[in-house]
Amino acid sequence: MVVNVCKHCQRQYISVTKGFCCSRCRDIDDMRFAQIKAYLKYYPNSSAYQLAESLNMTVYTVLKYVEEGRLQFGRGRFEQLEED
Ligand SMILES: [Zn+2]
Repeated sequence: MVVNVCKHCQRQYISVTKGFCCSRCRDIDDMRFAQIKAYLKYYPNSSAYQLAESLNMTVYTVLKYVEEGRLQFGRGRFEQLEED
């Protein structure tokens, strides 16, 4: 069992494997990720800060997606997206 901190509500929760989002925030998580993907389609090579500013989310949240492995982050900018 692992104690995780949800990237959206910052609540602690327990899960079997390491996670970044609690069960209550799954919808928010998917919505945010969809927004990031859409944004990067129009503005590739955006920085985490630009993403956060434009999409009204925190840089922390954006960087958590990177830590999670859902976003590729190189040389300070998002260069490519993982296909799903
Ligand atoms: Zn949450």
